[in-house]
Amino acid sequence: MLILALCFAIFTLLVWPIIYKPVVIALLACSTLATYAMVSYGQYFNYSMIVNIFETNSSEASSYLSVSVFLWLFFLFFIPSIFVLLVKLRFPSTFRGLLLQKVLMLFVSVAVVGAIASVYYKDYASLVRNNSEIKALINPTNYLSASFRYAKYRLYEKNIPFQSLGTDATDERKGDKPNVIVLVVGETSRAMNYSLNGYQRDTNPHLSKEGVISFQHVTSCGTATAVSVPCMFSIMTHGTYKATTARHQEGVLDVLKHANVDVSWIDNDGGCKGVCDRIEHVNIEAKDFPKECAHGTCYDSVLLNGLADRVKNAQSDTVIVLHLIGSHGPTYFERYPPEFRVFTPTCDTADIQNCTRQQVVNTYDNTIVYTDYVLSQVIDILRSNDNAHQTAMLYLSDHGESLGEDGIYLHGLPYGIAPKEQKSVPMILWMSPAFQQGHNVNEACLKENAKQVPYSQDNLFHTLLGMASVSTKVYQPTLDMLSQCEKQ
Ligand SMILES: [Zn+2]
Repeated sequence: MLILALCFAIFTLLVWPIIYKPVVIALLACSTLATYAMVSYGQYFNYSMIVNIFETNSSEASSYLSVSVFLWLFFLFFIPSIFVLLVKLRFPSTFRGLLLQKVLMLFVSVAVVGAIASVYYKDYASLVRNNSEIKALINPTNYLSASFRYAKYRLYEKNIPFQSLGTDATDERKGDKPNVIVLVVGETSRAMNYSLNGYQRDTNPHLSKEGVISFQHVTSCGTATAVSVPCMFSIMTHGTYKATTARHQEGVLDVLKHANVDVSWIDNDGGCKGVCDRIEHVNIEAKDFPKECAHGTCYDSVLLNGLADRVKNAQSDTVIVLHLIGSHGPTYFERYPPEFRVFTPTCDTADIQNCTRQQVVNTYDNTIVYTDYVLSQVIDILRSNDNAHQTAMLYLSDHGESLGEDGIYLHGLPYGIAPKEQKSVPMILWMSPAFQQGHNVNEACLKENAKQVPYSQDNLFHTLLGMASVSTKVYQPTLDMLSQCEKQ
């Protein structure tokens, strides 16, 4: 009754002569797609989901298209739309009469809400306080209010001034070998499916032989790319992160540039969410690499093209960011070439709800095996350039993924209620002997910390500055994972 009364109020505000048919039909279309995502994938339509939708490119969005979406649209959108077109509403003939009617209808719905609240206030208050996410389950108010907030942010944000950061940064490297650091930003990779982190399946056949350090207790800043990626490159922490501020403030890549470090970003994941806007960046285009980009998206090996030359030719301190498409779902099966189909049977469709859970997990694990291979290729390139450079690779995923635990799939749940599968991310470090020597790294200390100390994406900003030997007053050594283990 409460929801009915609320919807009555909202439709009273939306339904006006002439425009009401297109409005209601548009709402039917959006609500059908929202309901589909909620039922099929356990999604919540809150603010960050709306940000995701507006900032997603079309090839990412089309990976959700499938036969069942069209069936849903047929029954919940197409047929009801015919009824909407056939029905005739009679409005009061004068504008005054129309307004009076609207006010009366709003009054009735407010009275009903008030009556319910007066009797059940305590129950509702505790229900909503303990489960704030249920607001994101009421269709269509969930996406309507979030879209309204998003539009407001977008319009108001134009007036916020842009802040630079760490303009005092200088490169303090000693010795004549330049640092060459490859930072690999993962996608939808969850820590518990790495055999390096104790997963019972061998998903790390390559990295397990590379002498890497895998940090076992790392949490993400958000549960979706649009939150985690800007957050991990910003000086803000999970606790202080504000999306608006992140869009109007420089991040760690800008600070590196202030210190004249050669910074570049190569993207295979549909964009860097603003963090590479002011540095050299390349978006991989599927048409340029037909062999590696069969489905309109590219296998991550595409990022290895030209990497060896970039590393070899580095004259000064260099940071290269590779943005993987990693384990982006629900089309996990399109993330790896056929020879990496190690665990079978797989789920070779976007309709993961029609696959068994085991099939989904198998397919997802294959994406981890493939990421393991790509990372080992990066390490091989860096290792072979250890003579003239100090090389290192740091890998960090943006957020995790649910694979059917408690019936939840994909990611993007509100942080407070998101399961650990969406929040624990892999972080893997490889350092060449020259790098370890140049930075006085106490490897045994790092390995011990990797097992016990909880880290998060908050550490990336300061660890990256430390790895690039950059000094600035915004650098906090307590958040630099390497400075905690420096030989005296
Ligand atoms: Zn992501």
